[in-house]
Amino acid sequence: MCYLLKLVMLTIFVYCNTCTKKVKAVILTKHDKEYDDSIQGYRRYGMVKVLEHNIGFRKTCSDTSQIKAIVESDSEDYNGVLN
Ligand SMILES: [Zn+2]
Repeated sequence: MCYLLKLVMLTIFVYCNTCTKKVKAVILTKHDKEYDDSIQGYRRYGMVKVLEHNIGFRKTCSDTSQIKAIVESDSEDYNGVLN
């Protein structure tokens, strides 16, 4: 059962609002696709849940909040994060 759930969970990279690190987040919902002139392509927003992440030696960031984020995009930044 747990194995099946892992296969279904889709993750993306976002920036944490608290520690500003690039972190993994689970996609909860997806909104409609939107065209954006500035990237000459499509973007899709959704709600994601930030996963617990390390911020340094033996320290973890406790920010695991649900945030609105870009979950699909034709554009990404130098870090490989959708923008
Ligand atoms: Zn963080």
